[in-house]
Amino acid sequence: MGKRDYYETLGVSKGAAQDEIKKAYRKLALQFHPDKNPGDKEAEEKFKEAAEAYEVLSDAQKRQKYDQFGHAAFENGGAGGFHGGGMTMEDIFSQFGDIFGGFGGFGGGFGGFSGGSRGGGVTKGSNLRVKVMLNLEEVANGVEKKIKVKKYVSCDACSGSGAKDGTAKSTCHTCHGNGQVTRVTNTFLGQMQTASTCPTCHGEGNTISQKCESCYGEGMVKKEEVIKINIPAGVAEGMQVKMSGKGNAARRGGINGDLMVIIQEENHPELTRDGSDLLYYLYLSIPQATLGATVEIPTIEGRAKIKIEAGTQPGRVLRLRGKGVPEVNGYGKGDLLVQINVWIPKSLEKEEKKVFEKMEQSDTFTPRPDKNEQGFFNRMKNFFE
Ligand SMILES: [Zn+2]
Ligand SMILES: [Zn+2]
Repeated sequence: MGKRDYYETLGVSKGAAQDEIKKAYRKLALQFHPDKNPGDKEAEEKFKEAAEAYEVLSDAQKRQKYDQFGHAAFENGGAGGFHGGGMTMEDIFSQFGDIFGGFGGFGGGFGGFSGGSRGGGVTKGSNLRVKVMLNLEEVANGVEKKIKVKKYVSCDACSGSGAKDGTAKSTCHTCHGNGQVTRVTNTFLGQMQTASTCPTCHGEGNTISQKCESCYGEGMVKKEEVIKINIPAGVAEGMQVKMSGKGNAARRGGINGDLMVIIQEENHPELTRDGSDLLYYLYLSIPQATLGATVEIPTIEGRAKIKIEAGTQPGRVLRLRGKGVPEVNGYGKGDLLVQINVWIPKSLEKEEKKVFEKMEQSDTFTPRPDKNEQGFFNRMKNFFE
């Protein structure tokens, strides 16, 4: 195979100490780093070669095997699961990234992590949930509600920074502004690198020397605030209206969370909502249904008069177009469906009883529903199922 001796590759003696090996590798890795030698195949090979040598020589067990058997120790998937020369660039960066000072990072100055850019990202405040009870008019027309919420708001005293007046934030010494710390552990399979949130700055990348006294360094304080909520027409029970940025402030100057407004509907005493339609059960007296009448019904806009034709059967549904609830998407409006019922008296005066007895003898009062009425009942059955 003609593989170069690992010690030779790194340019160190057989008895070299670990830190000497690391130093040597670092020097080569920086020299042949692909960022410095774009498109240079030879440099890439040298870069990989150095990584391979370092992988073996930086591990006491592998190094011992190598000293004993040479390259043969790692051939055919030999000892320790070493992937004999087949390291990809990703392998190298994920395993030895720390050699450059950051997790796979190779920013600005050599070995120095460019810092900041990772900085744990922007923190976002938590979302806030409030329930809002709406009556039918408010649902149908949309409404602006003002509600009091207790939430975290940015601290005025420090403008949300958490730092006491005039004291500046400084880059975290533990993670150098990275927000993350990497830990390298030696395992049977080689070195494992794990990244975790920096314990010193909690991922923020910087620390404050003197905390703001109003917020104890949190950058936010709990406060009661009145929030105006615009609720669109047509919302329904259980819907959530999201108000971006109206939730809790974030710790030390991040972006606010959202306010989630959960809709609750108050039942209307007379009208029942069915999607965008409204249902009303209208009771007529026997004379009204028989003779026809003008009656009042409730609508969202108040009382309205409708005309009942003579001979209107119970069970019949009158459809008042556009008198329902608007669709929440703004397209179209439901109807108001008035279902006719006829009130049958439970007791009668003597004279009234006589009238009914007389009616009973008349052929006029014999039920004879026509086909349309029958069909109508079937339709209603489906409708209310
Ligand atoms: Zn403060
Ligand atoms: Zn830190």
